[in-house]
Formats: sequence, C-alpha cells, structure tokens
Amino acid sequence: MVERHKGRPIYLDNHATTAVDPRVVQAMLPYFTERFGNPHSSDHFYGWEVAEAMEIAREQVAKLINADADEIFFTSGATEANNLALKGTARFYRGRKNHIISVSTEHMCVLDSLFHLERDGVQVTYLTPGPDGLIDLAELKAAITDQTLLVSIMAVQNEIGVIQPLAEIGALCRSRGVFFHTDAAQAAAKIPLDVKAMQIDLLSLTAHKIYGPMGVGALYIGKRPRVRLEPIITGGGQEKNIRSGTLPTPLVVGFGLACEIGAAEMSNDATRLGILRDRLLDRVRNLGGIHVNGSLDHRVTHNLNISVEGARAEDLIAALPDLAFSTGSACSSANEESSYVLRAIGVLNDLAEASLRFGLGRFTTEAEIETAAERLVEEITNVRTRKRHAAE
Ligand SMILES: *Cc1c(COP(=O)(O)O)cnc(C)c1O
Repeated sequence: MVERHKGRPIYLDNHATTAVDPRVVQAMLPYFTERFGNPHSSDHFYGWEVAEAMEIAREQVAKLINADADEIFFTSGATEANNLALKGTARFYRGRKNHIISVSTEHMCVLDSLFHLERDGVQVTYLTPGPDGLIDLAELKAAITDQTLLVSIMAVQNEIGVIQPLAEIGALCRSRGVFFHTDAAQAAAKIPLDVKAMQIDLLSLTAHKIYGPMGVGALYIGKRPRVRLEPIITGGGQEKNIRSGTLPTPLVVGFGLACEIGAAEMSNDATRLGILRDRLLDRVRNLGGIHVNGSLDHRVTHNLNISVEGARAEDLIAALPDLAFSTGSACSSANEESSYVLRAIGVLNDLAEASLRFGLGRFTTEAEIETAAERLVEEITNVRTRKRHAAE
C-alpha cells in the first residue's frame, strides 16, 4: 500500500473519488477479455454468462441498502440516478402533483435538475439547513402540501459530511403520502442504509465513491409503495424500460463487489478512519483559530471540513503540493466563488474562503495522517505569518 503511493502526494480527497479496490479490479478483468459478451444478447452463451454476472451484482448492490434486486436499476453514476429520480417522477406524475421539496446544500446535479424542472413549471421549495448543516424536521413538515410529490434530501453531504436524519424524514414522508428520494453517493458503505426501515422510496448510488470503478451507479426504485417514473434515456428498453443502453458489464460486476466489500468492512473502516480523522483535527486545532464546519457529531467519520482563520485556502493548497485535498467540492471549485454549501450554513465569506476539506479513505494509513498533520501545522503557521507581515 505504501509503495504504490511512493513519490506521490498523500491522497486526502476521497469525497471526489476513491481508488478502485484491488479486489474489485481483479473481479472486473475477465469481463474485459474472455467474458466480453453483451449482457442483452439473449440468444447465446456469451450473453447468458454476463447477464448472470450482472444479476449477481444487482443482488450485491441491493443487499447494501436492504432492497430487493428487482428494485435496482443501473445507471452511469449518481448524477444520472439523481436526474432520473427527479425528472422521471416529476414528469410521470405531472398534472397530479407538482411540488418538490429539497435543500439548498444538495449536490449540484440535484439542484440543477430541480432548476430545469422549475423552468417546466414544477414548484420547488429549498430548505435551508441550520449552522450544523442539518435540516429542521419541523420546517420540512410545514413545507409539505397536498401538491407535494417528492422530498429529495441527501443522506451525507459531500463537503461537510453531515448525516441527515433519514429515518425521521422517511417516516414523515410516508405518513403524508410523499415519496422520499435520497442521494446516498457519500453515504453508501459509510453508514448503514436500510431503505425499508428508513422508508426510502428512491436512492442514488455511485461506484466510484465506494472503491468501485467510475462510470457506473444505480437508482433504487421502491416497489412498495410503487414509484413510477418516465425514463430520461430511451431506446432498446434495457433495465425494464427505465434506462436504455448497453450496460457496462465489467463496471457493473466491479460495482457489485465494491458493495459487498463495503458492507463487510464498513464498520471497521469507519472506526479506524474516525480515530485518524480526530487525530488530524486535534493536531491542527492546537494552533487555535480553527473552525469545524457543520456538526462534528452527526458526520461520517472520514470527513473533516475546517476553516482556518488568517489563511486563505488557495494559499494553503499552493503551499502543500505534497497533500491532495480540496477546498469546497471538486465540482464547484472550477469557479472562483466560495462554497455555496458553506454560505448556506452561514459561514462568513472570509472563513468560507479559508475552508479545507479532507476525505480519508480505506487506503489512508496512520503514517500518512501523521505526515499530513505535521505539514498542515507547518504551512498554516507559515501562511499566517506571511499574511500578518504583508498586512503590517
Ligand atoms: C459524487 C457525487 C455525485 C455525482 O456522482 P457521479 O457518479 O460522479 O455522477 C452526486 N451526489 C453526491 C453527493 C456526490 O458526492
């Protein structure tokens, strides 16, 4: 493990993507070469063997969230799954129910799907989370009307790692006859998910955040109560007409195994990474002027998001090329604006521009965290000193 990172920056950006687990890579390889058939070729062996492999993967994915295999629909990732959940249901039920409730700190692919729906006349209410990043259940309850079709609230936030009260949201939605969709891209294999106990109707997953390959994910579509949706990609009628297009068998097989490994190792990974995350935080917090963004208690153990007084994030990133971490989310850092997520939870601009996100992962070692903590302490001190001198 140490060898393969040699000479490369320490990777602390596991919210953006994760390395593919070597066990997953091994499982995928035969499906690029001898088992290369089209899973939708129903007339011969090449199709049958991969169709069977894909159904095993479907069961592995279903098991991670306590769904049934026939409730899992493969997609290209969570972006597509979120688009399908939101646009698909809104279009199917158009004319009957016309209101969706979501949160201002959702991933951009959820927000952008909602903006598109608003242009088509769907009404959307965006809840604002508290300073801890969590939604207020009373506010959600008050926002539901008899026009409300769907509530879409992510399970774990991708910048600040906070965990929303899924079971409470699910119970509220079910009691009001409203569908509950959750984007679980950052939650899967990190916290236990149970679509039945949590009364979740739609749930989005992606493989590349759980040590599987990029380019594959799934939408869970509950059948009790049954959720109907209009497909957004049509053609050959694969995935029971919900999502046409040839599925990438090697990726699907890898996704399945990544889910199985994730379920088996979730608890150990979470405990180990929590210890390392807290060590990193303690070391840096000793400097003073360090603010944790969002609730520390209701948070996945591998996430840390802090703002550093007296230092801009871009200066720290420039001073630390030996560490791979980010400011805000990978998707929004192309534009110069500070994180909309941090602004939504009331982090003031100076501190929002001084925010650092660390995402630990299955392959993060104790030695890497020691080095990262040491280097951070060193460069925060340097950047603060330089900034102070420049101001004098
Ligand atoms: C990464 C991510 C997505 C997008 O997933 P892709 O599979 O990369 O399309 C959506 N939502 C959240 C919360 C994410 O972290």
